[in-house]
Amino acid sequence: MSLTIVHNPNRDEIARTVQDFLRQLAEPTLLVVDGRDNSRCRAFSTLLHGNEPSGLRAVHGWLRRGELPRYRLLIFILSISAALQEPMFTHRQLSGERDMNRCFRPPFGDRPGAVARKMLELLDDYHPECLIDMHNTSGLNPAFGVATHEDPAHEALVALFTRRLIITDIRLGALMEISRPDFPVVTVECGGNRDPAADRIAAQGLEQFLHREQVLQPDAGLHMDLYHHPVRLELDRETVIRFADEPDPEADITVPRHLERYNFGQVGTGTFLFWLGPHGRARMRLRDASGKDMLPRYFNCIGHCLYAAQPIKLFMVTDNPVIARSDCLLYAAPESGHTLLDI
Ligand SMILES: [Zn+2]
Repeated sequence: MSLTIVHNPNRDEIARTVQDFLRQLAEPTLLVVDGRDNSRCRAFSTLLHGNEPSGLRAVHGWLRRGELPRYRLLIFILSISAALQEPMFTHRQLSGERDMNRCFRPPFGDRPGAVARKMLELLDDYHPECLIDMHNTSGLNPAFGVATHEDPAHEALVALFTRRLIITDIRLGALMEISRPDFPVVTVECGGNRDPAADRIAAQGLEQFLHREQVLQPDAGLHMDLYHHPVRLELDRETVIRFADEPDPEADITVPRHLERYNFGQVGTGTFLFWLGPHGRARMRLRDASGKDMLPRYFNCIGHCLYAAQPIKLFMVTDNPVIARSDCLLYAAPESGHTLLDI
């Protein structure tokens, strides 16, 4: 079996620490917690990435309190072996395996694929009304949501945690891509994986998700800050990337340490972003949903420096070279596609 199912875990048997709780679970797990009314069901997923523990901490704290949810709750905790690998909570996935949050579309042939397929089957069986997939960013970031659909139900789910929402048309095999109008699924990035504020946001939002009668209708007067059509800055695997405050002559790309401070901040035309070595430009692509390289539209390379070519929002700027090479260094969205939504 690729996924263990535990029904109504007894609060007295939940280990005191999050680390020991994970050791108890040991394998990819679905916890099914009956609520006061089991005619409805909601789903929550966390730890798809082993280095993103805020959602897990929120779930663990809540289980230890032994409270009943309003409706039946499904809690999926999948990348447990990656999280348990020492040092704990530093590995996104097991080495040699695919990123778990890229496995929610065929082919399902490998181990993470089999786990993803089982999760999709269980979602079909239980028919939850919605799903929140909780992540952390690896760099410093305020909380934000990501959705593949732009409608009030997706906005209401994200608004339990944050007012920032990115509507993406990029398809990677991520869990949120299974979203449908009658089954909204959102990603919530509750903040950096070393930031205690992210743990608080996860815990407070989960509390709302468990106890509110309605989570799919926005509250009157809700303001959302929406960004559309993000692009991803991807690097060749062999790219030499450094994080430093002056250009490293050995590096293809040197990212100044302050770059992550631009996450959701103002980046105007002409803002310096990072230094390039002789092969830097050839090793980068700024992909949009169609896979086209959009770099010239967003960035100007002048000499050994790269600048913003238009006002943009940067987000998920990582300070982790492994993630920068295997996934992406950052996302960007044009300010021109930015809307403020008042409901
Ligand atoms: Zn993640």
